[in-house]
Amino acid sequence: MPGRSDAALFKTLARILPRTRIITDSGERSLYDTDGLALYRGVPGAVLLLENAEEVIAAVRACHHHEVPFVPRGAGTGLSGGAVPLDEAWILDVTGMDRIIEIDPLESLARIEPGVVNLDLDRAASDYGLRYAPDPSSQRACTLGGNIAENSGGPHCFRHGMTTRHILALEVVLPDGTLTSLGSRSGATAGPDERGLFVGSEGTLGIAIEATVALIRRPEQVRTFLASFSSLAASCRAVSRIIASGARPAALEILDRLTIAAVEASVFRAGYPTDAEAVLLVEGEGSPAEIEEETAHVRAACSAEGALTFEEADDLEARTRLWRGRKGAFGAMGRVARDLYVLDGVVPRRALADVIEKIAAIGKKYELILSNVFHAGDGNLHPNISFDARDPEQTTRVLAAGAEILELCVAAGGTLSGEHGIGIEKRDHMGLVFTELELETQTRLRDAIDPRGLSNPGKVFPGGRSCVEAGHRGPGHAARVERIIG
Ligand SMILES: Cc1cc2nc3c(=O)[nH]c(=O)nc-3n(C[C@H](O)[C@H](O)[C@H](O)COP(=O)(O)OP(=O)(O)OC[C@H]3O[C@@H](n4cnc5c(N)ncnc54)[C@H](O)[C@@H]3O)c2cc1C
Repeated sequence: MPGRSDAALFKTLARILPRTRIITDSGERSLYDTDGLALYRGVPGAVLLLENAEEVIAAVRACHHHEVPFVPRGAGTGLSGGAVPLDEAWILDVTGMDRIIEIDPLESLARIEPGVVNLDLDRAASDYGLRYAPDPSSQRACTLGGNIAENSGGPHCFRHGMTTRHILALEVVLPDGTLTSLGSRSGATAGPDERGLFVGSEGTLGIAIEATVALIRRPEQVRTFLASFSSLAASCRAVSRIIASGARPAALEILDRLTIAAVEASVFRAGYPTDAEAVLLVEGEGSPAEIEEETAHVRAACSAEGALTFEEADDLEARTRLWRGRKGAFGAMGRVARDLYVLDGVVPRRALADVIEKIAAIGKKYELILSNVFHAGDGNLHPNISFDARDPEQTTRVLAAGAEILELCVAAGGTLSGEHGIGIEKRDHMGLVFTELELETQTRLRDAIDPRGLSNPGKVFPGGRSCVEAGHRGPGHAARVERIIG
């Protein structure tokens, strides 16, 4: 009986955790009901604040024993509903595990706990002339555990690669509470790449409690460019020209007119020209000679596409100003409407201009405010829909437009996600890119690792695929939990 197993579970947990780190109060639990995507909500049955490996192992073992579904959680900045608890699953919050255990400058690596904030690791690495390259725009808040689970990207991933390229080894608590090691300190793998399987698994294969990550040398010189254009299409074509020239910028980012206006009216003001239809932000890094060569390529490409203005910034202050607008773009959109739906689709680079035009038409069709800020180098689009989630009719239109945009990306030869993951948001769109057989194979793989379907149920895999997914606890469970422990 669920009630009895809950009572037994709490008895077990009370032996491992102080009462203050077991949250059962309904008001406090509801603070964990969503993530960075406000479209999906679910109140957890309880929240456990875990601070070390022993606690995670014991908590997962107990959940497994009592068949309680659980959701690993970092900072909750995810944009696909990955950390939202369904079916009153329990949240296992690991933000308290935030130690940088070791930085080894000789091997250019760091060992970290999952709750370390992305930017904190980069700052710590800079003391050794090193850096952690993947830099999500949320890097001031998001955790490395979340980055690993989502295989996160960021502006500088165009050159340096997504999170998976920077993860050497992982310590993982599997859904039955077994501790296992994946990958190796050297990065070499014997046999199948289990480390690669875990990165991007969105909390469905257990909880990462430690990671060994690669650090790279900070570049000798960095130069940031800002070019403005009279059309979005011209800025997209400039990106293709830059890459075709053989230049290898670290970042190639585009912001459209509406985003520029929001940024310039906000605290993230960066001096972007507000009369332009688009700005292209490019960053070059390398030796002084490489930077000069890159500058020539970028300048020529932008000029060939009729750039209205072209600015170069070498010193840290000016570069930080130019990046402030890009990194704060999602936050700045808060000025436009109460809620923002940040979509995440990928298209081949050559299709960028065409797809952007079609996305604008979808926005018009559904009478929605739609803006674009995206990792143009990777063809990774972020169409943003500004809306009011309190209005159900508007929200229905937002979801319909979102679905159509994803279909458009796939039809253009792209895919469902560049970096934000599948979560709840896109799980029912997986059939757009995978056949029935492929989905079945993915599900069987997941079931082999988590036969009870307890680790982050209801995510990634289209509804009802896992053998024992959500639904085995029944409504009223959260209230029971409160009563038992309260
Ligand atoms: C303003 C803004 C800008 C953003 N910009 C970017 C960007 O540029 N690039 C990008 O990729 N993303 C971006 N994101 C999305 C988000 O920040 C990333 O997905 C990030 O990696 C989530 O980290 P988190 O700590 O918040 O994880 P959470 O939201 O807490 O969790 C995300 C997923 O990871 C799982 N998880 C968390 N910790 C663990 C763990 N230790 N072990 C196993 N699973 C775990 C959760 O179950 C969930 O499925 C942005 C978000 C916002 C709000």
